[in-house]
Amino acid sequence: MAELSTWESLPIAGAVRPSGAPRTKTGGWRTGEKPAVDVSLCVNCLLCWLYCPDSAVTLSGETFTGFDLEYCKGCGICADVCPVAAIEMVPE
Ligand code: SF4
Ligand code: SF4
Repeated sequence: MAELSTWESLPIAGAVRPSGAPRTKTGGWRTGEKPAVDVSLCVNCLLCWLYCPDSAVTLSGETFTGFDLEYCKGCGICADVCPVAAIEMVPE
């Protein structure tokens, strides 16, 4: 039986930088709904940006601008966390 390695002998893992890995587009398998925003209601709290699991909320500097539907999977978290109900999930 092969001898097991100790943790000290394992190579140090590297960190994968976001720019170092290809982003997998999610638009092809979205849930069937997508977020739609009424920007007149938006107070730019950026909670949607913070909670989106796919980094699909887009900003211009520190200002909310919308969604990148190539990466949105339609989970609706952004709509749930928006404090002013500016985001609504709508059918594709
Ligand atoms: S629906 Fe989900 S994946 Fe799409 S923008 Fe909102 S939080 Fe992100
Ligand atoms: S959570 Fe709502 S109010 Fe906050 S930035 Fe997003 S859309 Fe605007």
